[in-house]
Amino acid sequence: MGSSSQIQSDMIEDGADAPKGWRSFAGHLFAPIKITWGQFFDLLVPLRHSAHIRRHAASVIISRIQLVAALFAVMVPLWSVIDWYVFPWPQWAQMTSLRVGSGVIFFLLSWPWPMSKTRLQADSMLMGMLLVPPVFYIMSIEITADLHVTGSALLVTKLYALMPNIVLAGLAIFPLTAFEVAVFSLPAFAFAIIGLLMGGETLSLDQHGPMLWLMVLVMGVAMFSGMSQLHYITALVNRAMIDPLTSAYTRRSGGEALDLQFRLAAMKNTSMAVAFFDLDKFKSINDAFGHEEGDKALRTLADKLREGLRRGDVLVRWGGEEFVAILTDTTPEGAKIMLERLRTAGFGLRPDGAAMTASIGVAERIADKATDWPQLIELADQRMYEAKRGGRDRAVLPGGEVMVFGDKEIY
Ligand code: GH3
Ligand code: MG
Ligand code: MG
Repeated sequence: MGSSSQIQSDMIEDGADAPKGWRSFAGHLFAPIKITWGQFFDLLVPLRHSAHIRRHAASVIISRIQLVAALFAVMVPLWSVIDWYVFPWPQWAQMTSLRVGSGVIFFLLSWPWPMSKTRLQADSMLMGMLLVPPVFYIMSIEITADLHVTGSALLVTKLYALMPNIVLAGLAIFPLTAFEVAVFSLPAFAFAIIGLLMGGETLSLDQHGPMLWLMVLVMGVAMFSGMSQLHYITALVNRAMIDPLTSAYTRRSGGEALDLQFRLAAMKNTSMAVAFFDLDKFKSINDAFGHEEGDKALRTLADKLREGLRRGDVLVRWGGEEFVAILTDTTPEGAKIMLERLRTAGFGLRPDGAAMTASIGVAERIADKATDWPQLIELADQRMYEAKRGGRDRAVLPGGEVMVFGDKEIY
């Protein structure tokens, strides 16, 4: 899981610190969803994307690969009819076997294999698919090398030379960062140049510059397309998964994260803890100072909780003023260290200046012998109530250990 603090909850927020010209340019480019500087940077390089965005992008990439590959699995072998028409024996037979071979690769790529749809799988499938047309092009040069092609056969071989360009244009349908588009474009450029060299040509800027320039232009269009798709996916996924008030995960997406983390921890037999937080006497803030102040207090609390968590931990808004922290790879001892950090930093202040306090319940997969994540949450919830009954402003840990936070009694 990525750090939840990096998730921009309000994706339609304008970059207030950005210059006006930039805002209007970026605004047009990524309309109707506005963009901040930070978000634009995220579209350039894949360094800061959270795990759920990467997962969604991966599944979009894989389903598009499968769709396009299915189409090509039929179209590429079918084109043999044209080869039979324009090429003599044995070239048409060689071309046909090349087409059938490519068709089989496309067919395999289009097959709905059971897979977890990780980013690595998406990237490998994409690279695999992108390599087929340029390799096809290079092999077709070999096959037709001794042929003095004229007329329609010449036209067909010239069309093959467009393969690298078609690959670049095809990249436009995938939600990728600019850097990723550049990396996936490399084979197309490499094979275009290899093709020229194999054709006995010496590279010259005068002769081949325009072709390379065209390829760069096509790649540029693919970059903008990929970036705007990625931005759209990020915005929609965040809108569905992130609570707009606190920028924590919603309960639904938190449940998905819990499910994933629990399965991973069970598979590797590692620790995994959850901490259930419920603010003490929160209703009185609303009653005495109004709902707005209550909202502000909730935002402060979420910020404080995130500051106390590690990168990779996930904060979920479980309900009104209840939060769940998913602590990956964390033993009860590790959870105590996190709680100690929170105790030092505090949970923020109430509008009247008094410290906000919370009752906390912690449960851990191994210590509590939990068999599924709902059990873990249920235990943490029970311990949170135990903390309430015990006098609030404290945490109850596995084994019933109690960590009292403040020294004042909160009735
Ligand atoms: P306790 O110490 O027993 O937990 O007392 P409490 O007042 O915190 O508990 P209770 O569950 O009775 O109150 C929770 C309150 O949280 C009720 C509701 O008005 C408030 N609340 C829930 N969601 C929001 C929200 O989004 N904004 C604001 N301002 N208040 C909310
Ligand atoms: Mg409550
Ligand atoms: Mg409460």
